[in-house]
Amino acid sequence: MSRMPVVFFGHGHPINALQDNEATRAWKDIADRIGKPKAILCISAHWLTRGTAVTGMARPQTIHDFGRSLPAPLFSVSYPAPGAPALAERVRDLLAPIPVAMDQQWGLDHGTWSVLVHAWPDADVPVVQLGMDIGRSAEAHLKLGEALRPLRDEGVLIVGTGNIVHNLGVMDWADADAPPYDWATSFNEAMARAVLEDRPEAVIDYAAQGEAARLSVPHPDHFWPLLYVLGARYPGEAAELGPNFIAYKSIGMTSILIGAARHAPAQ
Ligand code: ZN
Repeated sequence: MSRMPVVFFGHGHPINALQDNEATRAWKDIADRIGKPKAILCISAHWLTRGTAVTGMARPQTIHDFGRSLPAPLFSVSYPAPGAPALAERVRDLLAPIPVAMDQQWGLDHGTWSVLVHAWPDADVPVVQLGMDIGRSAEAHLKLGEALRPLRDEGVLIVGTGNIVHNLGVMDWADADAPPYDWATSFNEAMARAVLEDRPEAVIDYAAQGEAARLSVPHPDHFWPLLYVLGARYPGEAAELGPNFIAYKSIGMTSILIGAARHAPAQ
């Protein structure tokens, strides 16, 4: 079994789940490159936990974790992928001695399904989510990703889903195509360059970007999934940018594929 790549999806607005646009088509292209994994371990911006946790249920529910003001059809989206309790236990073993809670309450949140409905629309690949411990530093999140590396040789695709730039307070809700803020562009470019040049320390130390970082990452929830992906990267592995643009002025849609073969593996 060949080694799985790792991927960071910039998921953006939940409405992407229902749209056919540049980002959603690129997600499908990335999935086609990867092929069908045995299972997916997803680190979503939308699951912050006290302590580290994994979804341990066999049938995770689709969670509609956003405000009632969003379009009604979003509340009807279902992504009925099975869970994978054995993978959840494998994750717990890999992260030991750090305690990992086997969660039975969560499920698949929109950080996960808004992308996967496009990438693997058949929902036949088992999915486990990993909850990000809010008490950990950026470096500690990256170390957790590093501990998960062996999964890549076990047919498991490690997915981070968030956004490099994510500022809801100043986004232009009415216009996805509005020109981005300069600080959003400069922060996104600095982080993308650091990933392409394999300088994870510059991503851990994103706050060194000053005002651009403060505005692009007002809260780290959407940024942290990228650290897991970079932790799971082996030294010297090449990274490619998928869609690389900023929507609604302050929501980065950049996706990153690491360690992928040039052509999709045979099914
Ligand atoms: Zn989000």
